This record gives sequence, C-alpha cells and structure tokens, in this order.
Amino acid sequence: MSRAILPGSMVNGQPATLGVMGGGQLGRMFVHAAQAMGYFTAVLDPDAASPAGRVSHHHIQTDYLDEQGLAQLMQRCAAITTEFENVPAPALMTLGAHRPVAPASESVAIAQDRAAEKAHFVRCGVPVAPHAVIETAEQLAAVGDDLLPGILKTSRMGYDGKGQIRVKTREALAAAWGQFKNVPCVLEKMLPLQAECSVIVARGADGQMVNFPVQLNLHRDGILAVTSVYEGAVPADLAAQAVAATRAIAEGLNYVGVLCVEFFILEGGRLVVNEMAPRPHNSGHYTMNACDQSQFELQVRTLAGLPLTQPRQHSPAIMLNLLGDLWPEVTPTGKGPTSPAWGQVLALPGTHLHLYGKLSARPGRKMGHLNITGATPEAVRATALQAAALLGIEAF
Ligand code: ADP
Ligand code: MG
Repeated sequence: MSRAILPGSMVNGQPATLGVMGGGQLGRMFVHAAQAMGYFTAVLDPDAASPAGRVSHHHIQTDYLDEQGLAQLMQRCAAITTEFENVPAPALMTLGAHRPVAPASESVAIAQDRAAEKAHFVRCGVPVAPHAVIETAEQLAAVGDDLLPGILKTSRMGYDGKGQIRVKTREALAAAWGQFKNVPCVLEKMLPLQAECSVIVARGADGQMVNFPVQLNLHRDGILAVTSVYEGAVPADLAAQAVAATRAIAEGLNYVGVLCVEFFILEGGRLVVNEMAPRPHNSGHYTMNACDQSQFELQVRTLAGLPLTQPRQHSPAIMLNLLGDLWPEVTPTGKGPTSPAWGQVLALPGTHLHLYGKLSARPGRKMGHLNITGATPEAVRATALQAAALLGIEAF
C-alpha cells in the first residue's frame, strides 16, 4: 500500500470508498466506523439481508468468487478488507492484484488452515498445543497415544466450536475422522485450561503496530460468552507474554490490518497459543465503548493507510454476547414479547447495546452484544451480573 486514502476525499472522480468482503456483523461495524470518518462503503455479500449490506452505501449482492461482483467492488473501492476468514483466498488474490487489500491473501490463507497456522506459530517461537496433522490413513495410524484424549478439528472452515469432535480413544479418533469425511484435520491434545485470553493488534503497511490490552474470554459450548478487560483480569506477566507473542505473530506475517490471537492459559499458568483471526474479533467488541479507538476504527486506519496511535482503554469493561437463545419465542398469536428486556437492562449504568439488525433469532446465532463500562472492575462486574440475570445469561 502506498499513499493514504484520506477520509472524505475524492479518488478517481468518486468519493473515497472502502470495501469489505462479507456482510456479517463484523462488516457492519466496520462500515459504521468507516462512515463515521467520512468514507463511503461497499459490501460484497450474496445475502440480500446481510447486516453490513443493509447499512452500506453500496451492496454488491454476488457470490465471493463472482468475477463481475469482484470487478464491481474494485471499480467502487479505493481499498478492500475482509470480515471473515473463510472468504476464498483466490478472491482476495484477484482483488489484491488491482487494489490495496488488507489483510493480504497470504495472511488470510494461513489463518484459514489450522495446520499452516500452527506451523506459523511455531516459526514465530510461540508454544502451541501438542498436535498432529491428519491428512492420510498413515498419519492417522501414526498418531501417538500421548495426544489422547484430544480434540479432532477440521483444518479448514471451523468456527464457534463447529468442526470439532472430542475423542478419548484411537477407535473414537478413527470414527471422528470418518465423520468428517476424511478431510484434512488436526488432532490436538486436550489441555487442562485454567482460562482463555486474546490479544488484538493493528499493523500498518509501514510496519507500525499498536495493541489493545489482553482480554479474558469465557466460552460456553464453543462460543464466546463473556469478555472481561480490566487491570488484573489476566496476571500481568501472562498478559505481557501474550502481547509479545501476538506482536511476533503479526510481524512474522508482515501483517497489515487488525489481527486477533487467542490463547489458552493452562493450569499452572503456562501460555499456549490456540488460533488467530485475520480481522476484528468478537473478543474486541468492548473496545467500541471502553477504549478511545475501537478495533473497527483501527481496521479503517490500517486499510486507508492512516497513522496508528496506541489505543487507550479508559474504562474497565465486560462484554456479554447476545445469542439467539435469549430471544423469547414468538407466541402463536404473534403477540407477547419478541425481544429481551432491554428497558430494564438499559436502566443499568454504563450499558451499551449493540444489535446487528438480524430479524430472526436462532439458538447460538450472534444477535448482538452488550458492553458494560464502569469506574472500577467491581462496579462493572456487579452491573454485568445484574444485566446477565435480567437477560437469562448464566452468571460467571
Ligand atoms: P473455534 O474455531 O471453533 O473457535 P477453537 O480451536 O478455538 O475453535 O476451539 C473452541 C474452544 O474449544 C476453545 O475456545 C476452547 O475452549 C476449547 N478447546 C479447543 N482446543 C482445546 C484443547 N486443545 N484443549 C482444551 N480445550 C480446547
Ligand atoms: Mg476459537
């Protein structure tokens, strides 16, 4: 990437427009941040009702590999980013040949493949879980017993705990691989987790890098449920290690854009890297209300080639994910409550509601998130627990 795309400027006779591949909630929040700074936006997503497509200046409604769709996106946009890691890498390559694309297809391709991702972590000197790549029957047979009990994960396309099976025996392992139709997988040893955390960095094309503080994450059923970010949530020495590891991983990719790296904190206090996401991350949504710059603003800045300054968290924060499970069933008569008790929740101090504009709720579907900020960690926790109780989210 060369020159900055200045907000509100004209580029080749049209208003400076930033594009995003994918129209989910992350794309929507990117679009909001870009528009707040004066950019026009374009979203490519096949779904007419995509959360980002609905709020963007332009919505190109084609498949991710559709040549005409990609051509339209390039025609509209001065630079293009992505909001989910499973955007086909060839589409990003096509775009990257003609426009600045961040993150680069090479980085996304590594993040799309658990085996390649782990190899990159190892290259960067960051410890990973003991694991084996399983692509052939020979590799399956050669798996060491020390990896059991373990978790078999498909190398590609897994998310929110999908594409994983926990296995205790070699027989169960073979059956699980069969269940995945023998696609390339990674078997990971099941580790004793004390906690999980993540770090988000933003890196510019000039190599400048800034980071958010370490986020403590609670997953339920493989899906992020709660993120807590305040002094002491993660012990300082582990937090420093996690930040250093994330920076090394981004540096090693020559990464441009926003990158999230997830870690396990093992019982006994050792840090092991789990996986990375080449984009803003669910665990970074608290930055929208608790930091002087959000992860989406940094995504805009890295894409447009604007300066980066170290973000500052100004308030202790907790984020509650709002899954479709929280939505009351619509009654057969169509009457009765159709959304959670927002009136009561928003009466609590320091609550910030973000909904993604999805019109139907399903169990496990990410409908929105609630950020809670406060003066002290204790105050934030107390309010977050009250909000959780009102919403029917299990206490944490
Ligand atoms: P996804 O892509 O679905 O987020 P992850 O690999 O992050 O997949 O796994 C989802 C969750 O499963 C993790 O956040 C963690 O709670 C648990 N998990 C994954 N791998 C291991 C492991 N090796 N040992 C213990 N728990 C694990
Ligand atoms: Mg994960």
